[in-house]
Amino acid sequence: MSSLADYTTLGLGGPAKAFVAATSRVGLIEPVRAADAAGEPVLILGGGSNLVIADEGFPGTVVHVNTRGVGYAEAADGEVDVSVEAGEDWDDVVAAAVAEGLAGLECMSGIPGQVGATPIQNVGAYGHEVAEVIHSVRVFDRRTGNKQIIPNGSCCFAYRTSYFKQHPARYVVLAVTFRLTRDLLSMPVKYAELAAELGVEMGERAGVTDVRSAVLKIRGRKGMVLNPGDPDTRSAGSFFTNPVLGAEEFARLEAAAAVAVPRFGAGEGKVKVPAAWLIEHAGFGKGYGAPGPARVSSKHTLALINAGGATTADVLGLAREIRDGVRAAFGVTLEPEPTLVGATL
Ligand SMILES: Cc1cc2nc3c(=O)[nH]c(=O)nc-3n(C[C@H](O)[C@H](O)[C@H](O)COP(=O)(O)OP(=O)(O)OC[C@H]3O[C@@H](n4cnc5c(N)ncnc54)[C@H](O)[C@@H]3O)c2cc1C
Repeated sequence: MSSLADYTTLGLGGPAKAFVAATSRVGLIEPVRAADAAGEPVLILGGGSNLVIADEGFPGTVVHVNTRGVGYAEAADGEVDVSVEAGEDWDDVVAAAVAEGLAGLECMSGIPGQVGATPIQNVGAYGHEVAEVIHSVRVFDRRTGNKQIIPNGSCCFAYRTSYFKQHPARYVVLAVTFRLTRDLLSMPVKYAELAAELGVEMGERAGVTDVRSAVLKIRGRKGMVLNPGDPDTRSAGSFFTNPVLGAEEFARLEAAAAVAVPRFGAGEGKVKVPAAWLIEHAGFGKGYGAPGPARVSSKHTLALINAGGATTADVLGLAREIRDGVRAAFGVTLEPEPTLVGATL
């Protein structure tokens, strides 16, 4: 088969030993079941927008999710359940919900990839995350061989993680049900840059279509909407998560930084620190790495890009340099956000 580079937004990754395109739930489950029975490694591949695959490729079966279908059902009190097959394009679903006058997804406009991947790392942006609107996740459990519907409360959603991410070889997401609100006004705006773009106060609501447009505009400026003509979008999105620190760790960081460090409350006395701030202040500004083929995006410090001709080894080399530089400067170890396949940092 052709290289997996054709299936990742970084445009990187070697060949797969076997590749199956799944267009039905059965077609998704059976190759996984067969590979598990044969003791072969399995990689579930969605839109490839959160994957860093080794140059050597994948020594097992890649199952590419191509399942389609969206159903709307009225729930109580002006709420609507939108049930979506895993292979649907996420932003198509967001666009359709907004067009239907359904609130809940609008802040997550423009995120690449498929619906099935959204519960894995609890996708989020601009102050909201899918955990707020996921009603349940329909899965195939590779350990028991059963299909199951997992309610939101059992998904262990937290910042960029979930029960699914914590048990990486166990679940195949078949479909996700989102509970949205019939409302032309958005969820409360919780992100200062978005509030400024919309001309509203933090905590206010705006029209769902206005919020979608504003989010797409901001994301476009940062190279965070896929655009084949813009190499700054040839990335896996944010390469590092924002570190969540306890009070003592944060005090150590501020002492090392010798300036006020931006932070957001993360509950239980913890704070979340923007990884982009740490990276920039450790000396890795936008465009760092140029003219090399693996660089920091010229629009967003958190995105590492394949500017053309890079290998996965190049991107990982840059990621290591940044991680080590931030650790040396601030004593904080950044963790990668994408799934690394056959590769480590
Ligand atoms: C330009 C850009 C901007 C981005 N912006 C954001 C952002 O704002 N917020 C954010 O949270 N993320 C963002 N991302 C990351 C990424 O888009 C999301 O994580 C997205 O949900 C990944 O979807 P995918 O279908 O591409 O998953 P893939 O990259 O194909 O897979 C990601 C992981 O999920 C697993 N997986 C995929 N589908 C299934 C399934 N059906 N069942 C079980 N496991 C599965 C894969 O095995 C892999 O481990 C961005 C990425 C890019 C390139």
